[in-house]
Amino acid sequence: MRDIAHFVNGQAFNGASGRFGDVFNPNTGEVQARVQFATDGEIDAAVQAAAKAQIGWAATNPQRRARVMFEFKRLIERDMNGLAEILSSEHGKVIADSKGDIQRGLEVIEFACGIPHILKGEYTEGAGPGIDVYSMRQPLGVCAGITPFNFPAMIPMWMFGIAIAVGNSFILKPSEKDPTVPVKLAELMMEAGAPEGVLNVIHGDKGAVDAILTHPLIRAVSFVGSSDIAHYVYQTGTAHGKRVQAMGGAKNHGIVLPDADLDQVVKDLSGAAFGSAGERCMALPVVVPVGRKTGDELRERLVAEIDTLKVGISTDAAAHYGPVVSAQHRAKIADYIQIGVDEGAELVVDGRDFHLQGFEKGFFIGPSLFDGVEKGMKTYQEEIFGPVLQMVRAESFEEAISLPSEHQYGNGVAIFTRNGRAAREFAARVNVGMVGINVPIPVPVAYHTFGGWKRSAFGDTNQHGVEGVKFYTKVKTVTARWPEGDVEDSAFVIPTMK
Ligand code: NAD
Repeated sequence: MRDIAHFVNGQAFNGASGRFGDVFNPNTGEVQARVQFATDGEIDAAVQAAAKAQIGWAATNPQRRARVMFEFKRLIERDMNGLAEILSSEHGKVIADSKGDIQRGLEVIEFACGIPHILKGEYTEGAGPGIDVYSMRQPLGVCAGITPFNFPAMIPMWMFGIAIAVGNSFILKPSEKDPTVPVKLAELMMEAGAPEGVLNVIHGDKGAVDAILTHPLIRAVSFVGSSDIAHYVYQTGTAHGKRVQAMGGAKNHGIVLPDADLDQVVKDLSGAAFGSAGERCMALPVVVPVGRKTGDELRERLVAEIDTLKVGISTDAAAHYGPVVSAQHRAKIADYIQIGVDEGAELVVDGRDFHLQGFEKGFFIGPSLFDGVEKGMKTYQEEIFGPVLQMVRAESFEEAISLPSEHQYGNGVAIFTRNGRAAREFAARVNVGMVGINVPIPVPVAYHTFGGWKRSAFGDTNQHGVEGVKFYTKVKTVTARWPEGDVEDSAFVIPTMK
């Protein structure tokens, strides 16, 4: 059995805890490797190594740091196919989607290549007589990232790409379900020229997360995962004096106005609801058609579209999506479907009986469609995170806008319409962090920022873009003068700018 080790101070590090997590191949259902879980002492050793490395790295000029990011980008592009294969084999998403996962992370690295420009501070000449004021952004020290299973390449790169470019060192605690690609990313950062200790990967579960949240040398923690854990991470990390951003779960709605191009909407919904088996925080698992006619037409077309979907193993180039990540997760999705039936929603397409010939033990589940889903239902209120599309019918624009606005989650939302004024009003009023207008998965580009509202994110600062730079730096402001001539009298009142 292959063991997946930690990566500390530039090399593989075998821990001695004797605790492991199973890493499955979701296509076959077999355990393909086991990942070591770190002890508190091992995590402390990684943090100490990171703290030591950070001093020299912060003193390295930003252009040199950017060169490492440029080289890292080249190396990832060189290794793209191999990385995508590993990612698919542990996560279950199809190869093209794994490449998208890596590419979206690379786009943050491209942003980080411009860090010398982004880090330039502010300067005021002559703020007072002979006085100049300038401010600069300095790195925090050792930062940490705790990431979910569903984007094992993109989300680590959202975090360490920016954190390291601005001069921090980093401890990454990836999901224990698909930990191999994050280790490969750290190896590639070393090959790209990052000094040993600047990027470290330690594996584990809640124990490792707690060790990070309470470690006195870790200054900031970025978390992405489910909401209850995000909330816990936010509370525990901030109680220990850390800066914390903690992104949580989601239940994104797609609003379909009567004037929308339904041919396009059906294609968009199908990809956004069922792509990656629905295991995306920016998936669209809820569709809200406005008006009975829109709902009826949409339902008919969706049923036909779902019939064309191919579920297959992650290396099948013709498959639209592959297995979900684990047997437990598959069971959880099937349970939610049953709850939906029990609470009175109409199960129009039932994906639970799907089996892939030759891969009977794989974690596959077919696409499901519900109609008649209502606001009070548990299956509407909670995140299912699987290939299940729920139709919640609305009678008016007002009712449609109130649904995502009042939902506990506020990650993303999309509106489909040909009416620019309605779309503009929707974008302005909806109580959700990221909005798509005829764009089903409105993940902002790397130089903008990513972050939801309500229980989809705890903390004030988004991921990547300028917000990411702010999260991983602190501002220092210098007021300077160079007196000459006679000694001035002591001043006992606060200096002001008259
Ligand atoms: P998860 O919350 O189970 O795990 C996330 C991380 O927390 C992992 O590293 C895991 O090891 C760790 N963890 C697990 N249990 C813990 C505990 N009890 N205490 C402390 N840490 C713990 O999430 P997941 O299943 O890996 O990922 C799916 C979830 O992530 C979904 O809810 C999805 O919506 C969310 N997600 C959100 C975003 C976003 O940006 N808002 C992006 C991707 C995924």
